[in-house]
Amino acid sequence: MTHVNPYYVNLKDSFLFYETKARAEAFEAAHPERRVLRLGIGDVTLPLAPVVIEALHKAVEEQARKETFQGYMPELGKDFMKRAAAANYARRGVQLEPEEIFVCYGIGDDLGAIGGLFARENRVAVVEPAYPAYVDTNLMAGREIIPIPGTEENGFLPLPFPGLEAELVYLCSPNNPTGAAYSKAQLQQWVDWANAHEAVLIFDAAYEGFITDPEVPHSIYELPGAKECAIELFSLSKSAGFTGTRLGYTVVPKALIREGKSLQAMWVRNRSTCTNGVSYILQRAGEAALTDEGLRQSRASLGVYRKNADLLTAALERCGIRYFGGQNAPYIWLRCPGGMDSWSFFDWLMEQAGVVGSPGVGFGACGEGWFRFSCFSTPEVTAEAAARLEAILPRLQGQTDP
Ligand code: PLP
Repeated sequence: MTHVNPYYVNLKDSFLFYETKARAEAFEAAHPERRVLRLGIGDVTLPLAPVVIEALHKAVEEQARKETFQGYMPELGKDFMKRAAAANYARRGVQLEPEEIFVCYGIGDDLGAIGGLFARENRVAVVEPAYPAYVDTNLMAGREIIPIPGTEENGFLPLPFPGLEAELVYLCSPNNPTGAAYSKAQLQQWVDWANAHEAVLIFDAAYEGFITDPEVPHSIYELPGAKECAIELFSLSKSAGFTGTRLGYTVVPKALIREGKSLQAMWVRNRSTCTNGVSYILQRAGEAALTDEGLRQSRASLGVYRKNADLLTAALERCGIRYFGGQNAPYIWLRCPGGMDSWSFFDWLMEQAGVVGSPGVGFGACGEGWFRFSCFSTPEVTAEAAARLEAILPRLQGQTDP
């Protein structure tokens, strides 16, 4: 008889965003007369930059002619795309070799696969609240999870503490869902801790494009010692609108050695066995997105999302609701008013205002009593949602809010 992976029993029944989507759809089906406004999932709504569209068309045309047709891509990425990624790092003063950059179809895939480099016995510390895939992928592999709680007191930016024992640490900055972002000095503490403990940091830079504060590093490799201890994942999904187009890359530096083994060489071995490369067409799109002009054009979209954040935070401020984020990140993290728990507030807000968000507890136990709004909706939907919040939230305020 086939034996199935025994560790799946440790997972929750469904992924957070399936559950919120299912509840929103059930509500819409029961109330077809209501217009439901979705500020839940972090999916972009604005189109790709014109230079990206141009590159896609050109690459499709190349695939139509035998002189320019491309077959299988190199498993680790085409040189032109790796050079574009390296140039993006060079803008921040970070020098990377092309062999340290691994092109992928978005980092959701690599978050699932990167665990293949590490033994099951490693203890995995996850700075929470966190994107649920960090915990779930490691639970599937049978690893022990050590949640490191972000709280209002530590500004949702927990730091290493005496007695912390873990071999792998997941960090995301700017953070999904809290929007909190580590300063260089804070992130340096994690780098120093990891080097002192011979641990590995998995640093998720998915929201790098939203950083405006000069004190916030765009890449962990801006910090001395990071190449010796960190793997970084970078996605074009949110910064360049690639959620449906798909492209990202993972950086595994050559200086990252554990137990005498090069993790970069192990990842080459892993990728060349488990993948067959990323579409030529998409890599051309990624190359265009990372040019100066591509970045300038997508910044215009990020500006729209930032204005959405301003609309929502202004409404929350007028209602006297405590919140984090909305500055270096496209997420707003608010205290559920009236002392409600996250799911009760989710249901209450959907029923009373027709606004869908994400319950904070879905990002880790320390997210209980908190709630996330995404700023990726259209300005029209966001403005309407902000108005509905202002009309309804004052009803709850001052009830049992601690
Ligand atoms: N990491 C974080 C923190 C995310 O929020 C997301 C998507 O929402 C991902 C990774 C996955 O990104 P991608 O679209 O590149 O797979």
